[in-house]
Order: sequence, then structure tokens, then C-alpha cells
Amino acid sequence: MAPRDDLAASLRSMDGASYGRYRSLSGRWSVASLDLEVLRVQADPFAPPSRVRMTVHDAGLPADLWSTADRRRALASFLLRGLRRSLRGTPVNVDAGGPEVLERSAGTVRDDGVVVLEVGVPFPGPKRRILGREAATLLGETLPTAVREAVHSADHAAARAFVETVEDAVALRAALADRGLVGFVADGAVLPRRSGVDDRPLDGATPFAGPDERSVTLEAPNAGPVRGMGVPEGVTLIVGGGYHGKSTLLRALEAGVYDHVPGDGREQVVTRPDAVKLRAEDGRAVTHDDVSAFVAHLPSGEPTDDFSTTNASGSTSQAASTVEAVEAGADVLLIDEDTSATNMMIRDARMQQLIATEPLVPFVERVRPLHAEHGVSTVLVMGGSGDYLGVADTVIMMDAYRASDVTARAHEIAASGPSRTVEHTGFPAVTPRVVDPASLDPTAKGKRRVTARGRDRLSFGEDDVDLSAVEQIADRSQVAGIGRALALLGDGVLDGTITLAEGLDLLDAELERRGTEALLDGRSEDVARPRRHEVAAALNRLRSLRLRP
Ligand code: ADP
Ligand code: MG
Repeated sequence: MAPRDDLAASLRSMDGASYGRYRSLSGRWSVASLDLEVLRVQADPFAPPSRVRMTVHDAGLPADLWSTADRRRALASFLLRGLRRSLRGTPVNVDAGGPEVLERSAGTVRDDGVVVLEVGVPFPGPKRRILGREAATLLGETLPTAVREAVHSADHAAARAFVETVEDAVALRAALADRGLVGFVADGAVLPRRSGVDDRPLDGATPFAGPDERSVTLEAPNAGPVRGMGVPEGVTLIVGGGYHGKSTLLRALEAGVYDHVPGDGREQVVTRPDAVKLRAEDGRAVTHDDVSAFVAHLPSGEPTDDFSTTNASGSTSQAASTVEAVEAGADVLLIDEDTSATNMMIRDARMQQLIATEPLVPFVERVRPLHAEHGVSTVLVMGGSGDYLGVADTVIMMDAYRASDVTARAHEIAASGPSRTVEHTGFPAVTPRVVDPASLDPTAKGKRRVTARGRDRLSFGEDDVDLSAVEQIADRSQVAGIGRALALLGDGVLDGTITLAEGLDLLDAELERRGTEALLDGRSEDVARPRRHEVAAALNRLRSLRLRP
């Protein structure tokens, strides 16, 4: 059907009509040479905003800016940010995201250079009567003007800088494995953020400078050679006095799985794509995890290779999250003493003497075998216990935000001082789980919700999943993407015979092939592409999760 071309006139003629008449706007319109489609109309003025898609065929952007998938993702992100700027002060909602450059349903650049933008427009009608003139201005003028500003008049030099920054980060990240690195922090990077709730770079921060011993130079396609600190595979310890920048360095590595916008300060801080932050999270649910690597026996007599609880302790929650990460394919674990269960991390010589029957196997005993036998590296912030000095391959010290390499001295101290007795060796294989796909059906029991409730919570059917301890989730739209990914896993990907890891492989392949469309399947809402690890983390926290025997 040909697009209608009288949107503004139609709206004006509907002035004062009952709100439900807005529904007649569904479909395609041609507005000021813009291809505009009303995808979804809200049922009432208080419902989530109506969704409008704008397809720009004549964007006029230089072809080299959209020549690869990474460039297209970056360009789309750049354009969305421009659109958000242009629409500031209007009621239109643009899901442009934070400092991470994620694939998002709100904006895509197709491989033929066509730009597709989707925004949320609250259709005006406070008294359930259509405000026709206001709506006509919003859809007929405000939107097309903003698209002209953000797309047709886009600053091509700024777009190129944005695209090249993202492309460089992708290349730096891709270079890590061949160089035997798990992470890289460029000299000059700005790691600290303004505050716990403000992701912008801290003003006046001390720029990062890596120690000579750990200095490597990686090649970026646009920036050329980039020098910085390489974090090697194996076991890396970040030590230093309190408040000297240890956690800030680790958080930058956590964020390094994503690309960042120019000006963020962490544009050239990259981490292997399968690096996973772990922490203690008492109270979480655990469903049939093999935690035997960290829990030798339980006071209740429950089997530790098939451990379930609706209320994990600090240590068992961290043990569960650790084996779950390994199961999902993590090859780097990122751990901070600030958010770890002490008894999961350490058990010193004196406590070994006093308590002979400790059921917990501390991480310090498993961290080396985990790498040797499973290829999983660990980067650990630990300022409070020297027990790790002897098991670390690399020890980085943070002193007044400056990094130095103290590996040799740490090994000397470990060799000379009193030491704990090694009680366990090796790292047992983690039993792969087969999930019952029926337990991932959000429509079960009549509930139909897959709704992101902010950055920290996902409503999935009858379940309310607390994601506040899944620290590498970027934003609310990624939570929505995780919810959709769970539904997709349950509806066609997991078949009750393949393992969870195999299912995540299939999910990744589908996301690679179809982008966020794989998650939406014709639905129109804001989602950002999640990593498999955050999808797995949400799945593992579902209280309704069931396994196949
Ligand atoms: P630690 O984990 O060693 O106790 P943090 O990483 O939490 O220390 O950092 C302590 C404080 O110092 C935080 O407020 C952080 O924002 C700030 N900070 C960290 N790195 C820098 C830096 N390079 N320049 C300025 N301030 C920094
Ligand atoms: Mg800290």
C-alpha cells in the first residue's frame, strides 16, 4: 500500500476526537520526503509511548562510513545520539544509550546505507481527547526537522571520528588473544567516572600510565600504534592501598567488553569479549549447579554437584556464579575483593589450623588449575590478603592511581614468608546442564510480561529477576534484550537435549545473523543486544528455571 501523505492534516481533523482514534494512524506515511511509519499506537495517554519508525533513504552519508557491520553499528549510534540531541526538550524518546556503543533496535544503518530510526512518541491527549494540532506539529514538523538536523546535516567529520574510534576498539580487542592478553589499557586513558551514578569521565583525573614491564603496543587501523598496559593471561593480581584506584582499574576492564564513545576516556581500554565480572550475591536463587569445585560438602548433606537453593549465602552465590560463568564460556573472570565473600576467596594458615572441617574450597586453591586445565584466566583485586601473591603470574600495584609491576617482589615475599597448606588440587570439570525450555516461557500461568524494569530488574512471566549483581549490563534496553533472548532460548533454540552452552552458541549465531531483529521478531520496542554471559546470568537467576534430568 502506498504511504499516505496527509498526516498533519489528518491529525488536525481528528482534534477533539476520542483518544482511541489515534489507532487509525497505524501504517506508513510520507512526511516532508521522510518515510514515516506508525508501528504501534498507545491505548491511552498513560501507556508507554507510541512507536514511530523513520526510514531515511537519502541520508547522503559517505559510503565508507557504512562499509562494514562495525561501522554501521557505530554510525547508527552516532546518528541516534544526534537525534536525541535534536529532540531534547520535546516529549519524544530516543534510545541512544550511554557511553557504550551497542547494537540497538532504535537505530540501524542497513548495508545499502539506508538509515532506520525508531522513537517513542507520546501521542498528546491528556483528557483522552486527541490534541490534533499538537500532534500534527510533533509528527509533521518536530520529527522531520530533527531527522534533517541529525542525519541530513550530520557532521561527517565527527561521524568519521566516532566510527573510527569504535573500529579501533574492535581491532584492539581482537588483537588480545593472539598476544596472550586478556585486557589492554592504553596509556593516557581516563578510567574513573564522575560518580557511582554518573558514567561520564572524572574531570581532572590522573591519566593512566602503564608500567614499562607490562607495556605493549597494539596496532589500531585508524589511530595506528597504541601503547599501553597489557594484562596477560593466567592469574593477575591488582594490589595496592585502599583508595588508590584498584577497583577503578578493574571496572574499566569490566567495561572493556564494550566499545565506548569518543571522549569517554576508555575508548582504548579493551577486554576479551568473554570476560565476566563475578561477585557475591547472597539471597539469589541457584538451580542445580555443580558447585563441587568450591563446596566440598554441605551441612544439610545435599549433593554439591547438584546444588539448588532459593537463598544462597555470599560464598555459595559466588561459587555458583563462578561455575555458571565457566559453563557459559567465560575465559576471563574479573573479581574484586570489595564485592567478594571473604571465605570464598581466602582461608589462611591460622584458620586452617583452627577449622579442620571447612566445607569451602577457597578460590585461591582453584585459580591456577582453572587456568591450567580450563584456560580461564582471572584478574583479581586483592589488597587485603597476601595469600594470592604466590599463585599470581602477574602482580600490578596501584599507587596513587599509578600502575607498577611488582611481580618479582611479590614472588620473593611469597617464597620467604609463612604459607598456607594446599588442601585441594586441580579444578573438576563443570557438569553441563540441559535446561527445560518450557521453564523459559514468559506466557506460562497467564502472564505475558517480558519487561525491563530499569537497569536492575527484569520481569519475565511470573518471575521478577534481580540483575543488580550482574554488573556488566549496560542499560535498561539491554535488560529488555536479555528478556527477549530468554524467551527466544525457550521458544525454539533450547530443545531439551542440547546443553545451555550449546544453546548460547546458537543464540549468538542468530544475533550475529539478524541483529536485534532476532530478538524482536516483528515486535517494536527498544532493545539493545546483550552478551551471552548476561543472558546466562539472567537465566541462572530465574526462580522458575527447571532442568531436564
Ligand atoms: P581502591 O579500589 O583501590 O580502594 P578505587 O578504585 O575505588 O580505589 O578509587 C578510589 C577513588 O579514587 C574513587 O573515588 C575513584 O573515582 C578515584 N580515582 C580512581 N582512579 C583515579 C584517577 N586515575 N584519577 C583520579 N581519581 C581516581
Ligand atoms: Mg576497591
